[in-house]
Amino acid sequence: MLTIGIDIGGTKIAGALVTADGTPVRQTKIPTPASDPRALEDAIVDTVASLMEGTSSSGEVLAVGIAAAGFIDATASRVYYAPNIAWRNEPLRERIEARIPYPVVIENDANAAGWAEYRFGAGRMHAHMTMLTIGTGVGGAVVVDGQLFRGGFGVGAELGHILVEPNGELCGCGQRGCIEQYGSGRALLRFANELAEDEQLGAGLRAARGADGRIDSDSLKRLLSEGESGAMSALTTLGEWIGRACAILGAVLDPNIFVIGGGVALAGEALLKPIRESYIQHMPGRGFHPEAEFAVAQMLNDAGVIGAADLARQHYEKLHSSGR
Ligand SMILES: [Zn+2]
Repeated sequence: MLTIGIDIGGTKIAGALVTADGTPVRQTKIPTPASDPRALEDAIVDTVASLMEGTSSSGEVLAVGIAAAGFIDATASRVYYAPNIAWRNEPLRERIEARIPYPVVIENDANAAGWAEYRFGAGRMHAHMTMLTIGTGVGGAVVVDGQLFRGGFGVGAELGHILVEPNGELCGCGQRGCIEQYGSGRALLRFANELAEDEQLGAGLRAARGADGRIDSDSLKRLLSEGESGAMSALTTLGEWIGRACAILGAVLDPNIFVIGGGVALAGEALLKPIRESYIQHMPGRGFHPEAEFAVAQMLNDAGVIGAADLARQHYEKLHSSGR
């Protein structure tokens, strides 16, 4: 039996039919009609319909899980707020369930991706997992004792907004000094541009500056893949900040493993090493405290749809067992 996972990004809606062991068997991708809530709803229904073309009968699909960036309520049915799309206090589950013959569950996209890592990826075999996803911003997900942690209002695990630098950089959330401003892809680019001013370490970075005198993310990506020393130094700085955040998170959540996701995590040990060292350096009770493992996420681009599909399966099973 299959479930459907749908991941609504700012530019694309990805959908997949997924098996119980987390394997996508049919996938689809369409542009996101970001500014019109009704068109977005139609796009979700269309995605379900086009995925169903790959099955022999509608009875093969149990439920649909939808992942989206934003604040989702604790009952996984309402989108309070989505930063990239036009939903405001949207009763999405009810609206979609009225149009398709399956139960629907909605989840924050970072939570869905984290759930996929816990079930099928780097977090497997660890009942307590904390995941940080390093994208343009910093996303997070927390699994506690084998359960996805959502908090009392459903909007917990916003790990990008823990304070790492009092009176630091202004964050998009309205506060200052959040890890998102020091541990994100955007922060990495800032560190690289700052380091380009350094007489010795900055030579390779300066050479990669564009016409506007700035290093852009593509150039930085290239320098990192070449192992250029200035770019690697910026990556180390990024890792040190992320490790600091992990020390804070460790004091609260005590995970067995931290999973680091996002494109930057493909740097592997070059990023994990400074994270691990900084985590140990900033750890409360250092030397007496068990140390968590660190691993790079394994699910990459499909994590959102696979996590959403598995959460849909969990939802279906819950509905089924309470009906008995
Ligand atoms: Zn913030």
